[in-house]
Amino acid sequence: MSGEEAFVTLATTDGYAKGAMVLGCSLREHGTTRKLVVLVGPHVTETCGQALRSIFDEVSPVDVLDSGDSARLALMQRPDLGVTFTKLHCWTLTRYDKCVFMDADTMALSNIDELFEREELSAAPDPGWPDCFNSGVFVYRPSVETHEKLLTFCTENGSFDGGDQGVLNSFFNTWATADISKHLPFLYNLSSIAIYSYLPAFKHYGRDAKVVHFLGKNKPWSYNYDTQSGKMVDLPEGHQPGLHPDYLRGWWRLYAKSVMPLLRRANGDEDFPSGSVEERSPDIPEDETTSSPSADPPSHASPNPRPMSSEERKQRWEAGQMDYLGDDSFANIERKLDSFLK
Ligand code: UDP
Ligand code: MN
Repeated sequence: MSGEEAFVTLATTDGYAKGAMVLGCSLREHGTTRKLVVLVGPHVTETCGQALRSIFDEVSPVDVLDSGDSARLALMQRPDLGVTFTKLHCWTLTRYDKCVFMDADTMALSNIDELFEREELSAAPDPGWPDCFNSGVFVYRPSVETHEKLLTFCTENGSFDGGDQGVLNSFFNTWATADISKHLPFLYNLSSIAIYSYLPAFKHYGRDAKVVHFLGKNKPWSYNYDTQSGKMVDLPEGHQPGLHPDYLRGWWRLYAKSVMPLLRRANGDEDFPSGSVEERSPDIPEDETTSSPSADPPSHASPNPRPMSSEERKQRWEAGQMDYLGDDSFANIERKLDSFLK
């Protein structure tokens, strides 16, 4: 036993690589004493690879298709589960005794080294189906044997949700009932989507959040952020971010402060050639990265500025079309809630 422990993440694209960089910086910023490992797929560019190497202790290439072992065979039988098999690869990091896997779209808000006191498989409930755990943050023990079992299980049973979360929940199927110490508090995997489904709980407990998880279709790197105004700009049309604007800003601040200089250096200090990192990367001068956080969320740059009636807004809300960064922003909802409670 090496006694070594590590935080592990995965990136198969430059977008997720940027997420991994912010995650790595957030763990460092909060003084972790553990190693940081990132598994990278073959499509991550050299620019991102170089930036990752300056944040992580270990950048481990993972190309399941190229691996010539049972993982490749499994993938040939289930090509639909590509990224899932890549994620399961984290069980092969056997030079570590214990690891905490974290999705590349998570960010630590405080030191979370105490997670290493937990056992495999510890995870927090999924906000959509709390008898399942969310596989964005979990404690596990690397083991070739477990890895093989997981691959066999996957090949034979597939995944009920098409991804790693379905597989892992079916494999570790006593998580919900067997041992409460394997239930991580929700604060270790706070999905910004859940904030809006139980706002009073978020108001009550949210300040103790330790990890935020930007799960869902829109990721922080899908947005542009203007550090000067502290606002998200160029929001994609019809966007449904479900991202709490304060956390989104927190992600962008760390990205601008700690990641962009690394990407610049990796690029030889030139402007990013278009598409080399990601088309939507904002070009923020380094000396403008210190704008103070604003209590109000950024306003929504709507292509149609016509004000909406409250009836219209209610209909949109009920249809699931929330304007999280504008009218339905956390600050606005909170104001309303406060006025009700008074
Ligand atoms: N991932 C990746 N490339 C992909 C999709 C996913 O590297 O194309 C990795 C990444 O670490 C990501 C994790 O797999 O955080 C799970 O995917 P995602 O976070 O998008 O799922 P969600 O949490 O939104 O369900
Ligand atoms: Mn995720």
